[in-house]
Amino acid sequence: MSSVTAFAPGRVNLIGDHTDYNGGLCLPFAIALGTTTTARERGDDRVRVRSTAFREVWTGRLADLTLVGRAAMPGWVRYVAGVLWAARDEGWRLPGLDLVIDSDLPSGAGLSSSAALECSVALAVGSLLDRPLDPGSRQPLAALCSRAEREYVGAPTGGMDQLVSLLAKPDHALLIDFADTSLQHVPLPLRDAGLVLLVSDTGAAHDLADAGSGYAQRRTECDAAAAVLELPRLGLAWADDLSRLDDDVHRARARHVLSESARVEDTVTAVAAGDWDRVGTILSASHASLRGDYAASTPALDLAVATAVEAGALGARLTGGGFGGSSIALVPEERATAVQDAIDTAFAADGLRAPTHLTVLPAEGAAVGRPS
Ligand code: ADP
Ligand code: MG
Repeated sequence: MSSVTAFAPGRVNLIGDHTDYNGGLCLPFAIALGTTTTARERGDDRVRVRSTAFREVWTGRLADLTLVGRAAMPGWVRYVAGVLWAARDEGWRLPGLDLVIDSDLPSGAGLSSSAALECSVALAVGSLLDRPLDPGSRQPLAALCSRAEREYVGAPTGGMDQLVSLLAKPDHALLIDFADTSLQHVPLPLRDAGLVLLVSDTGAAHDLADAGSGYAQRRTECDAAAAVLELPRLGLAWADDLSRLDDDVHRARARHVLSESARVEDTVTAVAAGDWDRVGTILSASHASLRGDYAASTPALDLAVATAVEAGALGARLTGGGFGGSSIALVPEERATAVQDAIDTAFAADGLRAPTHLTVLPAEGAAVGRPS
């Protein structure tokens, strides 16, 4: 029986948070860490899923991969089953499968382990079935994975993570305009500029699939504000429209969404000009907006961001949705250790557990085969 291994990376979002589901702009890039899935065809109608992250092995039948069937599955299995469910719904003729999953991404840290999992499963299974997987076919594949996360897992996420995991290029960020889902690879020569992005995982995992989560609440608030403005999505509003929102919460959320998309555009301009100080300033402004207008930060994220800037980062912000997870700081490579130590010291002084740090640069998107 044939078998295929595929790797899909996690990502950091340089800037543009909570803009995807609002039809705005974002600028993520893939990182070198990610998830590997090996898919092997079985001779029967069973699906067996094992992840090295969990002790349990899930076994079911292809016929169990329904919306009703998901109720009996452990939460993590739904990310995998959701991809198979969406693929079957879109006409893939699936055989019975053994799927083995291995990842070096922290889960729930805002580095998109969920999309890395979905995309590695989709790529491995798609490749096993000889489906077209050239770059032109990757956008529909990302949409399939995103649909799995939204409709099967029930996490109301916007689709950024799957696009960047499947389509990223090394040393580039991916500018995504969710008004029309158009994509543009933007050079992001951090390495040449002597910079790295320091990611600090505060250790408070967010759960985006939880209907009561802050993330889901923000989505509901944005939809409500868009409805007041009679727009399909809030990102389509103009700055003038803000005054038409009587509700203070709606107005604040809208202000973040509109200003964040403008900051993404400003970041692209500043990167093209090699003005990294300006990029840092914009990142910090994004954090202020996410903390204030969007109320998506936590005391630990605020502490990591403020300390990073005091210790020599050009700018810093929470990344990947907030409500826990990670901060990012744009740091001259030689300052990375000092910034990291300063964050650890500040956390210890506040009685918080030291974050887990890593430095990242823009890496390659998903690929069939094992990462080298
Ligand atoms: P993030 O995508 O930021 O890491 P999410 O809450 O979106 O956080 O997704 C995390 C969830 O994805 C985990 O709780 C788990 O259910 C699932 N997941 C991620 N990686 C793996 C893995 N290697 N094996 C099994 N499940 C995983
Ligand atoms: Mg996720």
